[in-house]
Amino acid sequence: MGAIDLSRLVAIEGFNFPLYASPGAEARARAVGERAERAIAWLTGILGPAPTPAAFVVGPGEWPGVTELPIYGLPHVDRMDDGSVGDLHWKMVMGAEPGGFWRDVYAFIWTHLDPEGQADVRGAYGDADGFSACFPDLIVVHELAHLFQGEHGPAELDGAAPDRYFPRQWVSELFANLALYGYLAEVEPSELQTLETICLGAGRVPRSETPVRALDDMYRSLEFQNGAVLYCWYQFLLIMGAKRIWQRVGRDGLRSYYQTLNRPDMSDDDILQALERIDPEARRLVREWPE
Ligand SMILES: [Zn+2]
Repeated sequence: MGAIDLSRLVAIEGFNFPLYASPGAEARARAVGERAERAIAWLTGILGPAPTPAAFVVGPGEWPGVTELPIYGLPHVDRMDDGSVGDLHWKMVMGAEPGGFWRDVYAFIWTHLDPEGQADVRGAYGDADGFSACFPDLIVVHELAHLFQGEHGPAELDGAAPDRYFPRQWVSELFANLALYGYLAEVEPSELQTLETICLGAGRVPRSETPVRALDDMYRSLEFQNGAVLYCWYQFLLIMGAKRIWQRVGRDGLRSYYQTLNRPDMSDDDILQALERIDPEARRLVREWPE
């Protein structure tokens, strides 16, 4: 895509990274920016520095001009080598409005819940709109964690490499979820219920509803119809796994995960041994994955 047309966006001042919003979304962008600033400070304290991103909080009209990802509202980080914002090489993009995609995710999980699970989900979010108005904001922390993976030579991350330095996509995503869970546990514990309630429901989705479910097939999920929902199903299970790991090893475990698994050239055995060293619970996640 070409350079981002910043003249269609509002620059929000006062943050230690450039922040742009669609007109009308300024207040929401500020809230996102504040969480992003807290998260970057927390992550940097544990993992060391990461590249500064430019952040975009945009409506459906501006979305295609900011990112090539066709799923409106799915927060993500991506390379930005077009000189759009000074000499910054990364962008973090999220939706300013609740996306239809997130309602689909909610409906997918909801269908498979028993009455008790449905009551929990209703209590946490109200309804699909309530869910899609609050849950994606938490994923911003997960996306910022991905920035740290690029720190060891972002040029090689250019293009389609789905695993972004880690040896498998799920290893990368589990890292980002461990960072997300740890950040919320330490900095915003009142948000843990918002994170976990929908994720708990992912364990109830039957095999017949998931055309792929092996960990190593996570990168294939977007190939399928309803693929973005399937991708989130993987993420939700990984978030619950991240919870188990975080509760045992905390920030030391996050740091050692980052230091030992941030290499693309690891065999399956290397990965399992590294996980075992971080904590047996991390390896158990792989062994007990519901394939
Ligand atoms: Zn991710």
